[in-house]
Amino acid sequence: MTVCPFCQNNGLIYKAVIKVTGDIIYICDKCDLVWKTPNISLENCYTFEEIMSGLGRKNLWSELSDITPLQKEIL
Ligand SMILES: [Zn+2]
Repeated sequence: MTVCPFCQNNGLIYKAVIKVTGDIIYICDKCDLVWKTPNISLENCYTFEEIMSGLGRKNLWSELSDITPLQKEIL
């Protein structure tokens, strides 16, 4: 499992697909911060709201599909 750098041990990162675009994102289940790569860091995050409003959609988890916990990448 991958934990959110903002939520410490309380937020888990999930891989998900935005239904309307098919784009893969990585999202924290506690603070709704979003990453566009599995390289989760403090600097490269977006808010779920800004991602979805850019698509003309609401920031709802029901807009996502294929939601699975992001496994720790072995580099
Ligand atoms: Zn978080």
